[in-house]
Amino acid sequence: MARSRGTIVSVKVPINWESMTNRSRQRLRQIVGRDSRAIRAFLGIIEQHENELLTGRKKNRIHDGKLDKLTLTALRTKTGFGQRPSVLHDMKARFPRMSQNELQECRQTAVALYESFLSLREKKGWQASRPRTIKSTWRIPRWVFTQRFKIEYNESSFSKWWLNLRDSLDSVPEGRKTHDRLLLPLKISPFHINQFRRGDVKACQIFIDRSRKWWANFAVRVVIDEAPDTSLPPAVLGIDLGIEKAVCTTLITPEKVRETKFFKQKEKVELIRKYDRLVADLQRKISIDDNSSPDGVFQKLRQIRHKRENIAREYDRVLVKYLLDYIEELSNKYTLYVSIGRLKNIRNVARKGNYQGSQFRGMIHSWAFARITESLKHGLAQKGWSVDGKDSKFQVVSEAWTSIMCWKCGTKGVRPKQNYFKCPSCGHKTNADRNGAINIAGRLITLTKSLHSVRGLGKWEDSVKTGKHSRLKARKKKPSQGKSLLSSKDQTSGLGESAAVHFVQMDLLGFGDDSKMSDNDPAVASTMETLSVVGSDVPTLKQEKETRSSGGISSR
Ligand SMILES: [Zn+2]
Repeated sequence: MARSRGTIVSVKVPINWESMTNRSRQRLRQIVGRDSRAIRAFLGIIEQHENELLTGRKKNRIHDGKLDKLTLTALRTKTGFGQRPSVLHDMKARFPRMSQNELQECRQTAVALYESFLSLREKKGWQASRPRTIKSTWRIPRWVFTQRFKIEYNESSFSKWWLNLRDSLDSVPEGRKTHDRLLLPLKISPFHINQFRRGDVKACQIFIDRSRKWWANFAVRVVIDEAPDTSLPPAVLGIDLGIEKAVCTTLITPEKVRETKFFKQKEKVELIRKYDRLVADLQRKISIDDNSSPDGVFQKLRQIRHKRENIAREYDRVLVKYLLDYIEELSNKYTLYVSIGRLKNIRNVARKGNYQGSQFRGMIHSWAFARITESLKHGLAQKGWSVDGKDSKFQVVSEAWTSIMCWKCGTKGVRPKQNYFKCPSCGHKTNADRNGAINIAGRLITLTKSLHSVRGLGKWEDSVKTGKHSRLKARKKKPSQGKSLLSSKDQTSGLGESAAVHFVQMDLLGFGDDSKMSDNDPAVASTMETLSVVGSDVPTLKQEKETRSSGGISSR
């Protein structure tokens, strides 16, 4: 059957800055700085001529041709086109150390940046900040397109992988046809190679994150063979059951991570906390007046525990109902599997429980967890689901490591803040619960043989790292990497890339890697405080609408 147009995924590879010579470092800095100035110049021109450049039915696009007429002289033209010996803003004169192609790439980057601002303005009105207001100290990376860079492999050199870039700083002023090349050593891991193999590497950009680390970001267009049969495509819903925080679910298909939802139960958490405080107070009282045999206090304690338990049950029922509705809705579109994480040490906690303090809470948690899992299982069984056995559609999987392992590459990540997950190896940044939910879904895929044969495990491995053992190994191999990234700068920023990177990725290539939109949903803002718009992965607007229209607890 026909091949679908495919999704673009972004693959971030660390540049081995330490091993670069001073000269190549300097060249790279010069190129990135020059590109950034050129992009800013284009942005200024677009802003100045916005009215004449706007095009499209909704006036939300920039007319490339008209912009060229303002900025680029044309002396060698195709027959039938007039020459353009002078233009209003002559960018070639302004940037004499830049080739025509590079200027065009800067123009395209600026246009994409501006168009994403336009769509933001459509949504948010005039408070959307203009791309020109991006801090002058931030560099805006240019998108380099396929013909002008190469990823090279050299077995014998100290770094096996290199990014071969055009360096026209000297060749253009000297009038040379052949440009110099700048070779950048890359820290490529098997994960990165697998990502590249998924499709065609289309474009690349180089940027520095907030912790001054250099990265090469590649845009890969994923090629997917459409399934020939008419049955519903398979999908896995991973559920990360946080008892005292939001419940997070993520939907995964063989192609990609589709949507993430947060089911928040704020009232429940507050009420439960209140009762826990009361219990703690009473317990203190008991231990203080040990001799006065406070029968009344014990009775009150029992009552409060009873109340607390009832409230928890009531809220859990509501939660299960929402989850069941959501699952039913998804079942119309997919052959759905549901994977839920099993709480760590659930038995130990219950055994040790002595009705006091944190251990008591731990026990309550495991009760609540078991209760929710059981009701969900029961509800699905009533809908005719298979809920027991190895290949069943509902499975409880081990939660071990799911919260700290990067779902993309299997490396141990860092969590500078409770809700914020960041991977030192592939640069992935996301909400920590979302990362956990995806890992939980991935575990079900690994465990379920019938899913492997649906389209071959390979496809799933593309959308989520499924090899359990390889993940654990990868984690053990790099125990120290996490620490180096935990600089004080990082903890406060959480931003990583510049706004520009975000904007450019968003529109230039329609970066559809996963539906990160729900991560940006204002409804989950409080659980996502460390993830600004910039920090999360790149969303697509379409998916946002999809997610919103289907709704979640959070939005009601
Ligand atoms: Zn990673």
